[in-house]
Amino acid sequence: MSKKKAIALLIFIGVVLFTLKTSSYAQLQDIVEVIVGEPKEPSQNFPICDFLDSDPERCLKRDFNAVVSGATSKSQVKEIYLHFWRLGQSGKWKNMMVNNTPYKVILSNAEGVSLGYPDYIILKRFFIRPLTSQRHLFAHETGHSIYWRNQQEANRFDLGRFVRQDGNGCYDFQSACGKSGNFVQSYALRYFCDGCRDNISHFRESFAEAIGNYQLGSGRSINYTGFLCARTINNVRTDCSNTYDWVKENIFGGYEF
Ligand SMILES: [Zn+2]
Repeated sequence: MSKKKAIALLIFIGVVLFTLKTSSYAQLQDIVEVIVGEPKEPSQNFPICDFLDSDPERCLKRDFNAVVSGATSKSQVKEIYLHFWRLGQSGKWKNMMVNNTPYKVILSNAEGVSLGYPDYIILKRFFIRPLTSQRHLFAHETGHSIYWRNQQEANRFDLGRFVRQDGNGCYDFQSACGKSGNFVQSYALRYFCDGCRDNISHFRESFAEAIGNYQLGSGRSINYTGFLCARTINNVRTDCSNTYDWVKENIFGGYEF
């Protein structure tokens, strides 16, 4: 081969390699954009229990130290496991939620509101809801448990700052029944919507609701207009950005949905 031909061949190989490299880079960019643009199903940071179908009770106990009462089928226990598992893709959420005290998920068909306490939640009429609503309710009620189980950290949720920074479109001031305060506005009850309630705290409800909204994922809206006092938040990440960023860092350790 002459020197000229050899140089031409080298240039040709160089051009081919460069083209391959840039096109595979372009493909990678496309794939990344598609993933970022869509709500994400759990990755496998935390692997799913391998005997979930045969023994969901044992999985729930082993992975989250939790038990379910009031389930009418094994598949309901499995669904509850999957709610824990989805949020548990964040190691920080899991650490804040799970400790040595057994945790109880109580399913109930009674009318009324669901509730969250340090060591249990009561989920009312849970399985008649669509999955996105189940996810929101589960994250909200376990958010109360996270509050009670980690009060020092949870009290750093700076509601006053978030109200100033995020403002309208995320927060709504209400005064009734001798109480007043700002609520994350997708929260339905406030102080009075089904009668004056003594046990409602605008701080704790905003904290739990911020967690419920966070797991919807970036760019998602929550539309509960017409349900008691709830107001729509068009985009939980941009309309409540300071609240969102706090929850991202302090509850989910940077993990996004
Ligand atoms: Zn609540």
